[in-house]
Amino acid sequence: MHEMSLCESILGILKDQAVSQQFSKVDRVCLEVGPLSGVETEALRFGFDVVTRGSLADGARLDIIEPQVAAWCLPCEKTVSINERFDPCPECGSHQLQVTSGEELRIKELEVS
Ligand SMILES: [Zn+2]
Repeated sequence: MHEMSLCESILGILKDQAVSQQFSKVDRVCLEVGPLSGVETEALRFGFDVVTRGSLADGARLDIIEPQVAAWCLPCEKTVSINERFDPCPECGSHQLQVTSGEELRIKELEVS
């Protein structure tokens, strides 16, 4: 399950931050997970609980934000909102779209003490 290794990298980042920013406990982690990132949010929540057990993030609240998928439509020359990677442009039906958001996977906010 690749969500598990993702959670381990997240915990690694938290530990690094704890050293550089001098905190000892993480109370809340807010992750931004794009619908196109290929990450199962349920598996991510499960992995996070397992991986953080006994660590500085034990019991931390995990908030997951799922941003909308957006793409740049070449014919329309503007950003449109789509549901899936290969959806056509909702306005002109073109497939000349370049996905501009929806693939992100990052720590957006941290609450620490
Ligand atoms: Zn279009």
